[in-house]
Amino acid sequence: MADTGIIAIGSYNDNDADALDEIGAVRVPSLADALALPEAERATVKAIAYKSGASIDGEVLDAFPALGLLSNFGVGYDAIDVAAATARDVAVTNTPDVLNDDVADLAVGMLLMQMRRMRQADAHVRSGMWAEGQPFPLNRKMSGARVGILGLGRIGFEIANRLAAFKMDVHYWSRSSKETPAWTWHDSPSALAEAVDLLVVAVVGGPETENIVSKEVLDALGADGVLVNISRGSTVDEAALLDALEGGRLAGAALDVFENEPKIDPRFAALEEVVLQPHQGSATHTTRAAMGCLQRANIEAFLKGDTLLTRVN
Ligand code: NAP
Repeated sequence: MADTGIIAIGSYNDNDADALDEIGAVRVPSLADALALPEAERATVKAIAYKSGASIDGEVLDAFPALGLLSNFGVGYDAIDVAAATARDVAVTNTPDVLNDDVADLAVGMLLMQMRRMRQADAHVRSGMWAEGQPFPLNRKMSGARVGILGLGRIGFEIANRLAAFKMDVHYWSRSSKETPAWTWHDSPSALAEAVDLLVVAVVGGPETENIVSKEVLDALGADGVLVNISRGSTVDEAALLDALEGGRLAGAALDVFENEPKIDPRFAALEEVVLQPHQGSATHTTRAAMGCLQRANIEAFLKGDTLLTRVN
């Protein structure tokens, strides 16, 4: 174990790997590999750079008794039991804000792709059907629609701002109403779904929001409704979503996140009106570089005894 006491868990790209090497981190591909390190080595770990969806609970934290910082790569830290970390005086940090634009861009792109049927239209052109004179069927107007944002947080705000530029009537649900440019707050997810045609999910993941998009919410969205999820697979009752899509009780969906990703339910692939993305909301070169910088900046601050930049507990 390096004497810096830093280990980096997960699969990092070359730039991040080089930067982690520079700060003296020992890199291991997975949490299982970290837990398999000899006890004496684990006992010297002060900081973990974490990039994985594998759950970290109290038992895992106890395997690193000198740990003071768990620096997560990503804004969502639902894989980490933060209460267990706090109870053990382990600070947890994440990488908020630097990814807002990319995730919001993707949400808007997915919505356009779903409503204008761009995947099917592309296939129509490539197949030669257009050249043969076959018209592509008319599709659905997006500008001016009524859209709901479920969870008006950092990313939710960015999505709402973009959709407002599409002249949409913006509605939202958050646990309380917020200062907004005349967007309409609803007091429950179902009331929001009832009021809109398009619903974009941007709440945090974790036990408190599990299946917040329930069968009741999907029923309220209705047969003309389109669901977009860029949050976490856990926020949507996936069985109810698949039933609604297959039964024609929902017009379509655009999904970047899933319950059992990357091994998603094969029923999704058979659905024509569903846009599927490989959890790539923040996956641009620029943003991933910024996330890596922020993750390491928290580690450097911790080692110097400075205030952490983006602490969550
Ligand atoms: P954020 O600023 O913390 O906003 C989160 C939203 O979740 C807020 O509206 C907040 O509600 C709500 N929320 C928090 N705790 C809640 C609870 N216990 N019950 C109900 N609602 C709760 O987070 P963010 O940075 O915008 O991230 C939003 C989501 O995007 C997260 O799920 C994150 O994991 C996901 N994400 C996905 C990708 C991707 O690649 N697809 C990339 C980055 C992030 P209030 O408004 O009431 O405070």
